Amino acid sequence: MNKHVSILIIGGGPAGLAAGVAAHKAGVHDILIVERDIRLGGILNQCIHNGFGLHTFKEELTGPEYADRYIKQVEELKVPYRLATIVTDLKLSDDGHTKIVTTMDEEGGLTVYEADAVVLAMGCRERARGALNIPGERPAGIYTAGTAQYFVNLEGRMPGREVVILGSGDIGLIMARRMTLEGASVKLVAELQPYSGGLKRNIVQCLDDYGIPLMLSHTVVKIHGEKRLTGVTIAEVDDHLSPIPGTEQYYDCDTLLLSCGLLPENELSGQLGVTLSPVTSGAVVNESLETSIPGVFSCGNVLHVHDLVDYVSEEASAAGNHAAEYIKEISEGVNVPDSDDKAAEGRVIVVTDGGVRYSVPSILRPDHMADLTTIRFRVGAVFKDVDVVTYADDREVMRIHKRVMAPGEMEQTVLRKTDLLKEGTPSTYRITIENKQS
Ligand SMILES: Cc1cc2nc3c(=O)[nH]c(=O)nc-3n(C[C@H](O)[C@H](O)[C@H](O)COP(=O)(O)OP(=O)(O)OC[C@H]3O[C@@H](n4cnc5c(N)ncnc54)[C@H](O)[C@@H]3O)c2cc1C
Repeated sequence: MNKHVSILIIGGGPAGLAAGVAAHKAGVHDILIVERDIRLGGILNQCIHNGFGLHTFKEELTGPEYADRYIKQVEELKVPYRLATIVTDLKLSDDGHTKIVTTMDEEGGLTVYEADAVVLAMGCRERARGALNIPGERPAGIYTAGTAQYFVNLEGRMPGREVVILGSGDIGLIMARRMTLEGASVKLVAELQPYSGGLKRNIVQCLDDYGIPLMLSHTVVKIHGEKRLTGVTIAEVDDHLSPIPGTEQYYDCDTLLLSCGLLPENELSGQLGVTLSPVTSGAVVNESLETSIPGVFSCGNVLHVHDLVDYVSEEASAAGNHAAEYIKEISEGVNVPDSDDKAAEGRVIVVTDGGVRYSVPSILRPDHMADLTTIRFRVGAVFKDVDVVTYADDREVMRIHKRVMAPGEMEQTVLRKTDLLKEGTPSTYRITIENKQS
């Protein structure tokens, strides 16, 4: 027989933990967190460097210490969870109200849950070599930076001694330092774009402090070696990101680490029919972090890739609270899912342009908005001395001067409901960048 649960949370990383804690504190105790790993904490378990929690706890914690703060709350509140259990299937009941969640545990045992609400908190995965199309042989010695981090930090194994890193995402930067500290020689970090994909603080603390060069507008054009990697050829790229002939340089190395982007793990969301954004590959959500399917919420790296875990926890707490509100509303018979037409009435669409790539949320429902709504976004290039400007239709709502904005750093603004609705409900809320120097 199927088991019933009010809120089922998929993923026991920082997002799933914070969502579970918040939903429990909001009064819904019939919750289940399902985690495929043998422990809670998600990717933080392998992030043994410090720098976590400055925003939330005003302390510099390591990843496991940060996760532990939330695991303790889950234990104290007795929020139920299952480990070594993977969600394999997610679909809607025939009437469209109940979410049918199938899980498989270590022994291969299947359980089917009927959940009133689901919180998607599955995190993201790294883009692997197959997705990058690097020509050459397929020798051993090529890893994603996260896999290398797992080997070094959790298994105590060194993937290699002479290292080149392709991509300057945060995991690559962190691993440049980690491999150096473990005695490897990290020759360089090559980045295809003319800017780094990682946080400024990581470039300073992980590359500059160790004298590791960051070669912007460069990529790996050839992989050498048959059984084991023996070297890579790096070349400069032009404005169209194509290698410039004559700029090739050969580097001896036995290890190539790839840090070329993260992809939200949205296979289950897609299976359920959740609308996904082509820009973030995460769900399209409204101000309540609710997806296109009523009662299905999304948060953390599965929604959009975050650079700081503090914002993951903040966002996931909000998702947990909204899931709890949803449960209370359906138990009072309030939240009968709207028809598409009715649901679309009075919605404000968040539009991004002028260098802003996306926003989360991208839909605002004024009658569901709190006094303050946090809107997170990323830019698509580096900007210096610009204004972030927001408009309710054509009316300027907010103007904030920014000294530097970069794609690697997530931005946020806080929108006051009264400012949005000052002259009635607009059809769009636009976020753009002005005063760009050419
Ligand atoms: C190398 C690295 C360095 C970082 N450094 C910093 C830093 O210095 N400071 C900072 O603030 N942040 C840092 N971060 C970012 C931070 O760790 C992430 O933002 C955060 O872990 C994201 O949390 P999450 O819960 O969304 O995802 P995750 O931590 O990835 O958790 C998702 C969980 O869902 C589980 N899951 C997925 N699919 C299923 C399924 N089908 N069934 C059951 N379970 C499932 C996974 O096993 C996983 O445990 C770093 C991240 C990395 C990778």
